[in-house]
Amino acid sequence: MVQTVGIIGAGQMGNGIAHVSSVAGLNVVLSDISMDRCKAGLEVIKANMMRKVGKGKLTPADMEAALGRIKLADSLAAHNKCDLVIEAATENEQLKTSIFKELCPHLKPSAMVASNTSSISITRLAASTDRPDKFMGVHFMNPVPVMKLVELIRGIATSDETFERFSQFADSLKKESIVSEDFPAFIVNRILMPMINEAIYTLYEGVGSVDGIDSAMQLGANHPMGPLQLADFIGLDTCLSIMQVLYEGLADSKYRPCPLLVKYVEAGWLGRKTQRGFYDYRGEFPVPTR
Ligand code: NAD
Repeated sequence: MVQTVGIIGAGQMGNGIAHVSSVAGLNVVLSDISMDRCKAGLEVIKANMMRKVGKGKLTPADMEAALGRIKLADSLAAHNKCDLVIEAATENEQLKTSIFKELCPHLKPSAMVASNTSSISITRLAASTDRPDKFMGVHFMNPVPVMKLVELIRGIATSDETFERFSQFADSLKKESIVSEDFPAFIVNRILMPMINEAIYTLYEGVGSVDGIDSAMQLGANHPMGPLQLADFIGLDTCLSIMQVLYEGLADSKYRPCPLLVKYVEAGWLGRKTQRGFYDYRGEFPVPTR
């Protein structure tokens, strides 16, 4: 039975997974490269839980108990007692494989491992571990405490038992699971990211302004958020990495990342998390940057 969950990366996804796991009654070990990053992640968790308390979806006592189940760590060795570990670090294959190589010697032999990657081959990531049969993709959506879906992705070597246990884990978090085959960007991002990339081309080619493009898709296609707002929300570095994985993995020019997306990432304008992307979030209201 899963009692202790390890989460690597305390960024927007990692802290969201820690939030829902601790509320579900599990012990959580949340790690990042520094205690400062861990503490910043915990602050986000507290703020998000407070919002749930404000809406009457969580009692103050349950919030305190959930927070008490979260342990912070700045080392991968801290995951030595975990029954399963979910990697939610930056979307970069080399970084993820180096994390798995360092992590595995610390794990219990029975521990299962997952990546929350948005796009990278699960079979390739599994091959960098000492337990490809106990490894799979568990792709949460952002923001994790709000979004219902989890994509479950088996690598070529994932055992039936591993799949079943992660599937039960997703159920225990009250998430709805769907299964995707292990192809670049799986299902949601295979469809969503080319739409976002096309919105950025639409801006790049001067067809519309930031406001015009977002309003067009909100009012004309009934999307709750415009594609450029959504890109800022996801993180432009993550969007670019996913487009690169699609472009290289499927070898089709229709997935080429828009040069304007590349330029924003090179500038360090990564969206909400750096306070500037297609919108500038430093003032009271978001202001388009083009
Ligand atoms: P983020 O930039 O908010 O957080 C990434 C975190 O990883 C940072 O806190 C960083 O310090 C940490 N990190 C980097 N190197 C590390 C290391 N060696 N050890 C431990 N931690 C390390 O990014 P995010 O949006 O949370 O994305 C994380 C993962 O989740 C990516 O694989 C991404 O593709 C995936 N994902 C993102 C979204 C989204 O909408 N942003 C949705 C689903 C999945």
